[in-house]
Amino acid sequence: MKNSINRRKFIIGSTAMGIASGVSANVNAQTPMVKKGSIKPVVVASGNGHTMKNGGKFNCVETAFNKIVKGDDVLDSLIEGVNIVELDPLDASVGYGGRPNANGIVQLDSCCMHGPKKQAGGVGALEGVRMPSLVARDVMKKTDHHLIVGKGAQDFARNMGYEIEDDLNSDRSRKMWLDWKRRIDPEHYLDPEKREVAGRNAAMDMIKEGIIPEDEYYGTINCNGINANGDICGVTTTSGLAWKIPSRVGDSPILGAGLYVDGNYGAAGSTGRGEANLYGLCSFLIVEEMRRGSHPLDAGMAALKRIQENTIEKRLLNERGLPNFSVNFYVIDKQGRYAGVTLYGESSSGEPRKYAVCDENGSRLEDLEPLLSGSSA
Ligand code: ASP
Repeated sequence: MKNSINRRKFIIGSTAMGIASGVSANVNAQTPMVKKGSIKPVVVASGNGHTMKNGGKFNCVETAFNKIVKGDDVLDSLIEGVNIVELDPLDASVGYGGRPNANGIVQLDSCCMHGPKKQAGGVGALEGVRMPSLVARDVMKKTDHHLIVGKGAQDFARNMGYEIEDDLNSDRSRKMWLDWKRRIDPEHYLDPEKREVAGRNAAMDMIKEGIIPEDEYYGTINCNGINANGDICGVTTTSGLAWKIPSRVGDSPILGAGLYVDGNYGAAGSTGRGEANLYGLCSFLIVEEMRRGSHPLDAGMAALKRIQENTIEKRLLNERGLPNFSVNFYVIDKQGRYAGVTLYGESSSGEPRKYAVCDENGSRLEDLEPLLSGSSA
């Protein structure tokens, strides 16, 4: 049986339940009673969790799911899944071959949370390590800290025995950065204001010309899972916004923004415009909504509404007066119900936005449930 449900069906279903029981389905401050062994395991992720295989047989979500049902630790299973995407040079939004910053340097962000152990770790602006999710887990397991960034994160990784590479660009990511650089810097320098506008316009032109897919300009993988005992964990890993200001850190490694897990209630993580998510700490907001009894779908929608309300700067609005970017959330609750939600259901080229799901029925893409119609354009 599919645990994700169409939004309209859910509202009708929950209204009927409310009438029958005299209780609103959205008002239930109780911890859901979960019998150990009774949950149907499931893994959800951004779409690249289904599409990327790094030349191997399995994608991220099936790798994680197969390990979870074998009884492996949920977080270790998810991290092994996202490692496939981090290593895949075809995914230019994560790990090796990720999009570099404005100076052409790949800087990676990641965090992870272990629901049952109530532990977390993260790294920001880490250079030279292909799989930052592993370093994030080491921050969690081997230090008293939750987040280490920049040069210190690299020193920490080196001390933990990771190979530090000079350059994580693939030929593809380097070529695209050069193309962007030529567009914004024909005479070496523009005044800072013009430069910011020029940088964004150059990127938008490259999306329109089909040189860079919109989902790779932003682009990340978030992956969350639950096992039969109701153990919930999550991990997020990214190269961040393409051609960002060096050392810019987005939402991905920030607990409560790019990821939040409460082992008693659920997990939520994000891809898309990090600044919009950071402003509302939306993954935390989603898990808090689930704590109050909301279904993952309604909890995700509440976060998207918050983002829409908080987007008032003209430069961030499209001609309809709505956000000119998208943000997506992937959500699982303690009962194993899940949802994927997005500000806009269509990419700028009109493609439906999807997310990855793997359960007993295998790995597949499902439509993200949109808050707003059309695309962000
Ligand atoms: N959220 C990431 C960031 O802002 C990028 C993305 O997911 O598109 O760094």
